Amino acid sequence: MNDTIAAISSAGGPIGLIRASGEQAIQAVDTIFRAKNGKRMLDAPGQKLVYGTLHDKNGKMIDCCYAVVFHAPHTYTGESMAELQCHGSTAVLQQALDALFAQGVRQAEAGEFTRRAFLNGKLGLSEAEAVHDLITARTAEAAQNAVAQMMGAVGSPVQQMREELIGMVAHFHAVVDFPDEDIDPILFDDAAALLHRTTSRLYAMAESYERGRILREGVPCVILGRPNAGKSTLLNTLLGRERAIVTDIPGTTRDLIEENVKVGQLLLRVTDTAGLRDTTDPIEQAGIDRAMAEASASALILAVFDGSQPIGDEDMLVLARAAGHRAIAVVNKVDLPQQLDEKLLKKHFLHIVPLSAKTGTGMDKLLSLIPRTIGLGDGAFDGALITNARQAAALARAAERCEAALYAAQSGMTPDAVVMDAEGAIAALGEITGETVTEAVVSRIFSDFCVGK
Ligand code: GDP
Repeated sequence: MNDTIAAISSAGGPIGLIRASGEQAIQAVDTIFRAKNGKRMLDAPGQKLVYGTLHDKNGKMIDCCYAVVFHAPHTYTGESMAELQCHGSTAVLQQALDALFAQGVRQAEAGEFTRRAFLNGKLGLSEAEAVHDLITARTAEAAQNAVAQMMGAVGSPVQQMREELIGMVAHFHAVVDFPDEDIDPILFDDAAALLHRTTSRLYAMAESYERGRILREGVPCVILGRPNAGKSTLLNTLLGRERAIVTDIPGTTRDLIEENVKVGQLLLRVTDTAGLRDTTDPIEQAGIDRAMAEASASALILAVFDGSQPIGDEDMLVLARAAGHRAIAVVNKVDLPQQLDEKLLKKHFLHIVPLSAKTGTGMDKLLSLIPRTIGLGDGAFDGALITNARQAAALARAAERCEAALYAAQSGMTPDAVVMDAEGAIAALGEITGETVTEAVVSRIFSDFCVGK
């Protein structure tokens, strides 16, 4: 039997939510809550708000609030649960929690409610991981993807593929282990067709992780350019407010400035950098070195050039750094007479956007180009994008083992060879659904959650 846990499940705001789960959850709330209708919470119907007052162990009133009970097993955790909807101050919520603790309830650990839901079979592991994604989503699209995964967008197809492989392996075992029984013979062509289908599906899912991670974490994006090209102005225009210091003194931005910018469906994690130029100032040089390193690690470079000047030596540093990277050339200051010859830029960049960071001209074009350059231009975020590194690794392993089983089936190897690799794929898929995952991995996954979920 599990002990009863409770935690504050809301973050700030005028109303605060306390949740309790476990055998004693309803009993504990019944003891500290007096319903206005005079009835006991022990007798209250499930999922119905009851108004009343909350009291500490000495009977002192803490709050007037709502209580609600949920009867096992039809609850989030699968256990008896109760919730208190209190006024949201920390003082009230902490006293309410203490009143529950006085009834033998203990503080829930990080993610313990969802962990119990998983252990009680209410959620698969990939669905539980999606709960975390949903809570931490930073864009509507990331949330959309996460909620679809919480409803099984990853877990269901993985479970289905796993069951098909288990069916195939069971048949192979039956034929090999009971040669005298009247069992349908192994049809290697059918097995190969199943393995082929499954292999391609698994690779496609594993490969979606690159885009899924960008959706969840945002696109690391660096603004590079020589001093005074207009990098800080561009960052400020992207942000719609003054963040970086804009001056006409070269070398003003010496360190990295990082900001999150929402561009359509994307979150850009933009870093403004020290202008690239030859300098004898060691502090400025350190900033330039960091800019170069940051650019290597970024998914997108916005290379800013001053359109009112001819291309100079310092711009060459930018061209060199952007080579081989996903990059957009921004020809800034189009509001001034233009001196920059775009021919050279065309040799180095697929995308060139003339704009004025100062007036905003051309910004729309830049904003529409960014998602396309990243490869996230279109997309319904229906949960199809894998956003979780653990799941992506397990999918890739499953795909490789499935492909090996396919090779064995096609090349006329013994059934044993097919079975061995197919079983490897089944185990890897079980790590995603939670069937074959170790206790240590489960603990690590839920320790990333916040307390109260
Ligand atoms: P950074 O050193 O590349 O970060 O450049 P800043 O953003 O600090 O800009 C340098 C100077 O260029 C400032 O005086 C800006 O006001 C000016 N500037 C930036 N963008 C534009 C633009 O689009 N048009 C014009 N006319 N001036 C700009």
